[in-house]
Amino acid sequence: MITPQERYAKQLNFAGLGPAGQARLAAAAVLVCGAGGLGGTLAQLMVRAGVGRVVVVDRDRVEPSNLNRQLLFDEDDLGRAKAEAAADKLAAMNRAVRVEGRVAEVSPASIAGLMAGMDLVLDGMDNLIARYAINDAAIALRKPWVFAGCVAARGSVMFIEPGRTPCLRCLFPHPPAEGDYPNSDSAGILGPAASATASLAAAEALKFLSGNPQAITHGFTTLDLWSGRFRHSANRQSPAVGCVCGKGNA
Ligand SMILES: [Zn+2]
Repeated sequence: MITPQERYAKQLNFAGLGPAGQARLAAAAVLVCGAGGLGGTLAQLMVRAGVGRVVVVDRDRVEPSNLNRQLLFDEDDLGRAKAEAAADKLAAMNRAVRVEGRVAEVSPASIAGLMAGMDLVLDGMDNLIARYAINDAAIALRKPWVFAGCVAARGSVMFIEPGRTPCLRCLFPHPPAEGDYPNSDSAGILGPAASATASLAAAEALKFLSGNPQAITHGFTTLDLWSGRFRHSANRQSPAVGCVCGKGNA
Protein backbone atom coordinates (compact mmCIF):
# COMPACT_ATOMS: atom_id res chain seq x y z
CA MET A 1 0.00 0.00 0.00
CA ILE A 2 1.51 3.29 -1.11
CA THR A 3 0.53 6.29 0.99
CA PRO A 4 -0.31 9.60 -0.68
CA GLN A 5 2.63 11.13 1.18
CA GLU A 6 4.97 8.65 -0.50
CA ARG A 7 3.40 8.72 -3.95
CA TYR A 8 3.02 12.48 -4.25
CA ALA A 9 6.08 13.51 -2.23
CA LYS A 10 7.64 15.41 -5.12
CA GLN A 11 4.41 17.23 -5.93
CA LEU A 12 3.60 18.07 -2.33
CA ASN A 13 6.97 19.81 -2.17
CA PHE A 14 6.13 21.90 -5.22
CA ALA A 15 5.07 25.32 -3.99
CA GLY A 16 2.36 25.73 -6.61
CA LEU A 17 0.58 22.58 -5.52
CA GLY A 18 1.16 21.60 -1.89
CA PRO A 19 -1.25 19.53 0.22
CA ALA A 20 -4.22 21.79 -0.56
CA GLY A 21 -3.69 21.51 -4.31
CA GLN A 22 -3.18 17.75 -4.04
CA ALA A 23 -6.46 17.41 -2.16
CA ARG A 24 -8.24 19.32 -4.90
CA LEU A 25 -6.74 17.02 -7.54
CA ALA A 26 -8.01 13.99 -5.63
CA ALA A 27 -11.52 15.42 -5.65
CA ALA A 28 -11.49 16.27 -9.37
CA ALA A 29 -12.87 14.46 -12.40
CA VAL A 30 -11.44 14.87 -15.87
CA LEU A 31 -12.58 13.62 -19.26
CA VAL A 32 -9.81 12.80 -21.73
CA CYS A 33 -11.06 12.72 -25.32
CA GLY A 34 -8.84 10.32 -27.22
CA ALA A 35 -6.34 7.75 -25.98
CA GLY A 36 -3.72 8.29 -28.69
CA GLY A 37 -0.51 10.29 -28.83
CA LEU A 38 -2.05 13.26 -27.06
CA GLY A 39 -4.81 11.65 -25.03
CA GLY A 40 -2.75 8.74 -23.76
CA THR A 41 -0.09 11.06 -22.39
CA LEU A 42 -2.67 13.48 -21.03
CA ALA A 43 -4.44 10.64 -19.24
CA GLN A 44 -1.20 9.22 -17.90
CA LEU A 45 -0.14 12.57 -16.48
CA MET A 46 -3.54 13.06 -14.84
CA VAL A 47 -3.50 9.58 -13.29
CA ARG A 48 0.08 9.86 -12.06
CA ALA A 49 -0.65 13.30 -10.58
CA GLY A 50 -3.56 11.87 -8.60
CA VAL A 51 -6.62 13.36 -10.27
CA GLY A 52 -9.38 11.42 -8.52
CA ARG A 53 -11.37 10.28 -11.54
CA VAL A 54 -10.05 9.97 -15.09
CA VAL A 55 -12.37 8.92 -17.92
CA VAL A 56 -10.77 8.12 -21.27
CA VAL A 57 -12.90 7.85 -24.39
CA ASP A 58 -11.71 6.49 -27.73
CA ARG A 59 -13.46 4.52 -30.47
CA ASP A 60 -10.37 3.05 -32.16
CA ARG A 61 -8.21 -0.03 -31.77
CA VAL A 62 -4.44 -0.08 -31.33
CA GLU A 63 -2.62 -0.27 -34.67
CA PRO A 64 1.09 -0.70 -35.50
CA SER A 65 1.29 2.90 -36.75
CA ASN A 66 0.31 4.12 -33.27
CA LEU A 67 3.36 2.73 -31.54
CA ASN A 68 5.81 5.50 -32.53
CA ARG A 69 4.09 7.97 -30.21
CA GLN A 70 1.28 6.43 -28.17
CA LEU A 71 3.16 5.77 -24.98
CA LEU A 72 0.44 3.77 -23.23
CA PHE A 73 0.57 0.96 -25.76
CA ASP A 74 3.00 -1.78 -26.70
CA GLU A 75 2.99 -4.61 -29.20
CA ASP A 76 0.84 -6.82 -26.97
CA ASP A 77 -1.97 -4.28 -27.22
CA LEU A 78 -2.32 -4.45 -31.03
CA GLY A 79 -5.95 -4.98 -31.95
CA ARG A 80 -7.30 -4.09 -28.51
CA ALA A 81 -9.75 -1.24 -28.03
CA LYS A 82 -7.61 1.74 -27.08
CA ALA A 83 -9.95 2.84 -24.30
CA GLU A 84 -9.78 -0.58 -22.67
CA ALA A 85 -6.03 -1.08 -23.08
CA ALA A 86 -5.45 2.45 -21.82
CA ALA A 87 -7.66 1.93 -18.77
CA ASP A 88 -5.72 -1.22 -17.84
CA LYS A 89 -2.37 0.55 -18.10
CA LEU A 90 -3.57 3.65 -16.29
CA ALA A 91 -5.14 1.70 -13.43
CA ALA A 92 -1.85 -0.08 -12.81
CA MET A 93 -0.04 3.26 -12.54
CA ASN A 94 -2.16 4.51 -9.68
CA ARG A 95 -4.74 2.31 -7.92
CA ALA A 96 -5.98 5.31 -5.94
CA VAL A 97 -7.48 6.83 -9.09
CA ARG A 98 -10.87 5.83 -10.47
CA VAL A 99 -10.01 5.10 -14.10
CA GLU A 100 -12.69 4.43 -16.70
CA GLY A 101 -12.22 3.57 -20.36
CA ARG A 102 -15.12 4.14 -22.73
CA VAL A 103 -15.15 2.71 -26.23
CA ALA A 104 -17.14 5.43 -27.96
CA GLU A 105 -16.90 8.12 -30.57
CA VAL A 106 -16.47 11.75 -29.52
CA SER A 107 -19.13 13.42 -31.65
CA PRO A 108 -21.72 16.19 -31.45
CA ALA A 109 -24.20 13.48 -30.41
CA SER A 110 -22.12 11.97 -27.63
CA ILE A 111 -19.99 14.71 -26.17
CA ALA A 112 -22.47 16.40 -23.84
CA GLY A 113 -23.25 13.09 -22.13
CA LEU A 114 -19.55 12.29 -21.80
CA MET A 115 -18.90 15.70 -20.22
CA ALA A 116 -21.56 15.32 -17.53
CA GLY A 117 -20.07 15.37 -14.06
CA MET A 118 -16.61 16.34 -15.26
CA ASP A 119 -14.66 19.30 -13.94
CA LEU A 120 -12.48 19.66 -17.02
CA VAL A 121 -12.24 18.22 -20.52
CA LEU A 122 -8.93 17.48 -22.23
CA ASP A 123 -8.72 17.40 -25.99
CA GLY A 124 -6.62 14.57 -27.32
CA MET A 125 -8.47 14.28 -30.61
CA ASP A 126 -7.02 13.95 -34.09
CA ASN A 127 -9.76 15.69 -36.05
CA LEU A 128 -11.44 19.07 -36.10
CA ILE A 129 -15.01 17.81 -36.19
CA ALA A 130 -14.55 16.29 -32.75
CA ARG A 131 -12.71 19.41 -31.53
CA TYR A 132 -15.53 21.71 -32.57
CA ALA A 133 -17.99 19.31 -30.97
CA ILE A 134 -16.07 19.64 -27.72
CA ASN A 135 -15.97 23.43 -28.09
CA ASP A 136 -19.68 23.77 -28.74
CA ALA A 137 -20.72 21.42 -25.94
CA ALA A 138 -18.33 23.20 -23.59
CA ILE A 139 -20.03 26.50 -24.42
CA ALA A 140 -23.49 25.04 -23.83
CA LEU A 141 -22.46 23.44 -20.53
CA ARG A 142 -20.06 26.23 -19.49
CA LYS A 143 -17.38 23.57 -19.07
CA PRO A 144 -13.68 24.47 -19.20
CA TRP A 145 -11.48 22.49 -21.55
CA VAL A 146 -7.96 22.45 -22.90
CA PHE A 147 -7.55 22.48 -26.66
CA ALA A 148 -4.53 20.50 -27.88
CA GLY A 149 -3.61 19.68 -31.45
CA CYS A 150 -0.56 18.05 -32.97
CA VAL A 151 0.65 17.16 -36.45
CA ALA A 152 4.10 16.59 -37.94
CA ALA A 153 6.49 18.21 -35.40
CA ARG A 154 4.05 20.97 -34.49
CA GLY A 155 1.65 21.35 -31.63
CA SER A 156 -0.74 23.94 -30.24
CA VAL A 157 -2.47 24.36 -26.91
CA MET A 158 -5.06 26.74 -25.49
CA PHE A 159 -6.96 26.76 -22.20
CA ILE A 160 -10.61 27.66 -22.79
CA GLU A 161 -13.19 28.66 -20.21
CA PRO A 162 -16.40 29.50 -22.06
CA GLY A 163 -17.68 32.99 -21.34
CA ARG A 164 -14.38 34.04 -19.75
CA THR A 165 -11.69 33.29 -22.32
CA PRO A 166 -11.77 33.13 -26.12
CA CYS A 167 -13.08 29.80 -27.39
CA LEU A 168 -11.99 27.86 -30.46
CA ARG A 169 -14.60 29.63 -32.60
CA CYS A 170 -13.42 33.05 -31.38
CA LEU A 171 -10.13 32.32 -33.14
CA PHE A 172 -11.39 30.11 -35.98
CA PRO A 173 -15.16 30.60 -36.41
CA HIS A 174 -15.56 27.60 -38.72
CA PRO A 175 -13.51 24.44 -39.14
CA PRO A 176 -11.69 24.18 -42.47
CA ALA A 177 -12.95 21.56 -44.88
CA GLU A 178 -11.55 18.06 -44.57
CA GLY A 179 -8.43 17.90 -46.71
CA ASP A 180 -7.70 21.63 -46.32
CA TYR A 181 -5.53 21.05 -43.29
CA PRO A 182 -2.72 18.56 -42.65
CA ASN A 183 -3.29 15.50 -40.50
CA SER A 184 -1.12 12.60 -39.41
CA ASP A 185 -1.97 10.71 -42.60
CA SER A 186 -0.76 13.52 -44.86
CA ALA A 187 1.98 15.11 -42.77
CA GLY A 188 2.94 12.42 -40.27
CA ILE A 189 3.44 12.99 -36.56
CA LEU A 190 6.50 12.70 -34.33
CA GLY A 191 6.39 11.17 -30.86
CA PRO A 192 8.19 14.05 -29.16
CA ALA A 193 5.76 16.56 -30.65
CA ALA A 194 2.75 14.65 -29.36
CA SER A 195 4.28 14.21 -25.91
CA ALA A 196 5.39 17.84 -25.61
CA THR A 197 1.99 19.13 -26.70
CA ALA A 198 0.23 16.84 -24.26
CA SER A 199 2.54 17.94 -21.48
CA LEU A 200 1.79 21.61 -22.07
CA ALA A 201 -1.94 20.89 -21.95
CA ALA A 202 -1.56 18.69 -18.87
CA ALA A 203 0.19 21.48 -17.00
CA GLU A 204 -2.73 23.82 -17.65
CA ALA A 205 -5.08 21.09 -16.44
CA LEU A 206 -3.17 20.66 -13.19
CA LYS A 207 -3.22 24.41 -12.58
CA PHE A 208 -6.97 24.54 -13.02
CA LEU A 209 -7.80 21.37 -11.12
CA SER A 210 -5.52 22.19 -8.19
CA GLY A 211 -7.17 25.58 -7.67
CA ASN A 212 -4.52 27.80 -9.26
CA PRO A 213 -6.45 29.67 -11.98
CA GLN A 214 -4.09 32.65 -11.67
CA ALA A 215 -1.27 30.45 -13.02
CA ILE A 216 -3.11 29.40 -16.18
CA THR A 217 -1.43 30.38 -19.44
CA HIS A 218 -4.00 32.32 -21.43
CA GLY A 219 -3.73 32.58 -25.19
CA PHE A 220 -2.54 30.29 -27.95
CA THR A 221 0.74 28.44 -27.52
CA THR A 222 2.41 26.81 -30.50
CA LEU A 223 5.58 24.79 -30.78
CA ASP A 224 7.56 23.35 -33.64
CA LEU A 225 10.11 20.88 -32.40
CA TRP A 226 11.78 20.53 -35.81
CA SER A 227 12.60 24.24 -36.20
CA GLY A 228 12.87 24.85 -32.48
CA ARG A 229 10.24 27.59 -32.52
CA PHE A 230 8.09 28.08 -29.47
CA ARG A 231 5.54 30.88 -29.57
CA HIS A 232 2.86 32.26 -27.35
CA SER A 233 0.27 34.78 -28.51
CA ALA A 234 -1.66 36.22 -25.63
CA ASN A 235 -4.36 37.45 -28.06
CA ARG A 236 -7.63 38.51 -26.53
CA GLN A 237 -8.30 37.84 -22.89
CA SER A 238 -12.07 37.73 -23.39
CA PRO A 239 -14.46 36.19 -25.93
CA ALA A 240 -14.67 37.72 -29.40
CA VAL A 241 -17.58 40.05 -30.03
CA GLY A 242 -20.32 38.15 -31.82
CA CYS A 243 -18.94 34.68 -31.11
CA VAL A 244 -21.43 32.03 -30.03
CA CYS A 245 -19.55 31.68 -26.74
CA GLY A 246 -20.28 35.26 -25.65
CA LYS A 247 -22.45 36.18 -22.73
CA GLY A 248 -26.12 35.60 -23.35
CA ASN A 249 -25.56 33.51 -26.45
CA ALA A 250 -25.17 30.06 -24.97
ZN1 LIG B 1 -15.94 32.11 -28.83
